[in-house]
Amino acid sequence: MSKPPVDIRELQVDEVQLLTEELGEKPYRGKQLWEWLWKKRARSWDDMSDLPKTFRAKLAERCVLRPLVLAEEQKSEDGTVKCAFRTWDGHIVEGVLIPTPTRLTACISSQIGCSLTCSFCATGKLKRVRNLETGEIVDQVVLIDQLAHKYFEQGLTNIVYMGMGEPLLNYANTMRSAERITAPDGLAMASRRLTISTAGIAKMIRKLADDGAKFNLALSLHAANDAKRDRIMPINEQNSLGDLKDALRYYTRKTRRPVTFEYILLKGFNDSLTDAQELVRYASDVHAKVNLIEYNPIDGSEFGRTDTDDAVAFMHYLEKKGIVARIRRSRGRDIDAACGQLANKNEPALKEGEREMK
Ligand code: SF4
Repeated sequence: MSKPPVDIRELQVDEVQLLTEELGEKPYRGKQLWEWLWKKRARSWDDMSDLPKTFRAKLAERCVLRPLVLAEEQKSEDGTVKCAFRTWDGHIVEGVLIPTPTRLTACISSQIGCSLTCSFCATGKLKRVRNLETGEIVDQVVLIDQLAHKYFEQGLTNIVYMGMGEPLLNYANTMRSAERITAPDGLAMASRRLTISTAGIAKMIRKLADDGAKFNLALSLHAANDAKRDRIMPINEQNSLGDLKDALRYYTRKTRRPVTFEYILLKGFNDSLTDAQELVRYASDVHAKVNLIEYNPIDGSEFGRTDTDDAVAFMHYLEKKGIVARIRRSRGRDIDAACGQLANKNEPALKEGEREMK
């Protein structure tokens, strides 16, 4: 039986070097190949123009290089761009370019679908299909960065792993992609500009700390009370707020990096004074900042959006109690690109109208 082809972007630098030498090439060709894969963002063997054709042919025989393709883009009236990316095996994942006056942020996905079924989230209604590969996560940044240049004439300033999926359930590829995005011989983006957002898996948060994570961590909190959080985030049943607090304190002690809480305001559910008091206590214990997020009701949702005045009052209460808080205005709502709305709604239509972008 012949061996399955190697996905070249799953190899480490020393493995690429070894492969190069096995294929009869000089060691410096290995360095060139590595540069093409990550720094020069090659999307095909043909792109690698300074590698000998014979080497490229041998690589193509032994390995696969399977970039994501930008299949569709939708632009919101506020400038937000939602992207549908097609994977080599025909699935769609979504990423979003979010422009604000001071930032150009890429919100990227870590899995196709999600297994966590948070009740307010459109992605949670999709089944988890598979983890995204390292190269597929990095490709989202590369392709969204191209759109940032196209529409705003400058590159991305920030990356958030807040799209489809739970990054800490695709731990190895999340860590490796973050390393490739920030490494000088990768995309060379600043690590302080990269945020991984988790629904809260205590043992993986500890692991992040043990592995010396060099990016920002955000926890999707959404309720500072176990009964409420169990109701909207089933993951809380095995990762209670107490367990998460211990893990987060371990993380901040070990990495010396602060944590941010994401808190979607759900009208009549988690936006009362009591909720604010519970949030203050919890955030104070972890020294966390709080991002309050306007909810974008998804089809069939039991929740509504908190009125803006109430959201502002909630924020002021947190501030009065010494918590750094701000309201994140939802963007891209008209195209379902806002937080919690990514759900591949257009997938069936894509195959016909799809166009490849490079
Ligand atoms: S909020 Fe995140 S973890 Fe929860 S279902 Fe949606 S994508 Fe999954």
